[in-house]
Amino acid sequence: MGVSTETTDLPVGDVGPVVPDGLLTRDTVATVPVPTEFRPSSAAAVLAVDIGGTKMEVGLVDDDGTVLERARAATPGSDDPEQVFDALRELVTEVLDRSTTSPSACGVGCGGPMEAGGTTVSPLNISGWRRFPLLDRLQALTGLDVVVDNDAKALALGEGWRGAAQGCTDYLAMVVSTGVGGGVVLDGRLLDGSGGNAGHIGHLVVEPDGRPCMCGGRGCLEAEASGTAIAAITGRPSAEADAAMRRRCGTLVGRAVASVANLLDLQLAVVAGSVALGFGDDFFDAAQMEIGMRCGLDFARPTRIRPGGLGIDGPLVGAAAVARRQIAVREDGGR
Ligand SMILES: [Zn+2]
Repeated sequence: MGVSTETTDLPVGDVGPVVPDGLLTRDTVATVPVPTEFRPSSAAAVLAVDIGGTKMEVGLVDDDGTVLERARAATPGSDDPEQVFDALRELVTEVLDRSTTSPSACGVGCGGPMEAGGTTVSPLNISGWRRFPLLDRLQALTGLDVVVDNDAKALALGEGWRGAAQGCTDYLAMVVSTGVGGGVVLDGRLLDGSGGNAGHIGHLVVEPDGRPCMCGGRGCLEAEASGTAIAAITGRPSAEADAAMRRRCGTLVGRAVASVANLLDLQLAVVAGSVALGFGDDFFDAAQMEIGMRCGLDFARPTRIRPGGLGIDGPLVGAAAVARRQIAVREDGGR
């Protein structure tokens, strides 16, 4: 996936007021055309697949972002790649059997990292899949065009399409759940990077002498503030974390968001995921306070963090947006 320089001539509308809670936007933003990422495409309903370390979900999502069908199951903890794929196959078959509409494509959001733009995937939280050829396997199973992207990048697209970042051209979307992921939209475009892995905010260092991380580093956000990390630190499920731990998680996420805001000149972070949303105000208030302390430059000072707007539909709407993005790009004549 490359980066397009093409845009449509549709007006983006009232960008400033669309963003809630008085978020400051620059005058120039209002003149930015609707990016290909969020433009309506001819895609009808698409098959949406979300693959995480804890659960897998498959759904049918129509062209206005409504989830028509869905099925979910726990992700097998097996080291056998076929056992993991078997669980996914059952969900795909179940949804396709139930659907009255034929999907036009298949979009996938999968835990990272991945290789060659999603051709193969190696999710840190799914030990059975290392360079697993997910795209080819799903194509063979469904007969559909399949597009695979990182699950947090998928969420970023979904939040811009139908969620809390609608009308915003520069923002960060994050998932704080079993792991910590992110996706960045800048100048109205989702950042891909050379291998499709741009946005891995879970591996920004927030505690230099902190806990070892599965990536081989130390003190990464994911090693300190993910559900897995909190459970390891407290010895209890993250949902039982006390207020101090909830606030610590928010503070560390805010620290990472502040670095990204300072680096990229974006002023909005939308955060989804069971840990962040479950921690609620303790998390978001602490994160906003940390951002306030660490975003001192004029352009970064207005940076706000707020919950994602898609609720439990976020992963599927995001996965659908991954397919729709690719279809829109093709209709534009390729990138
Ligand atoms: Zn790491």
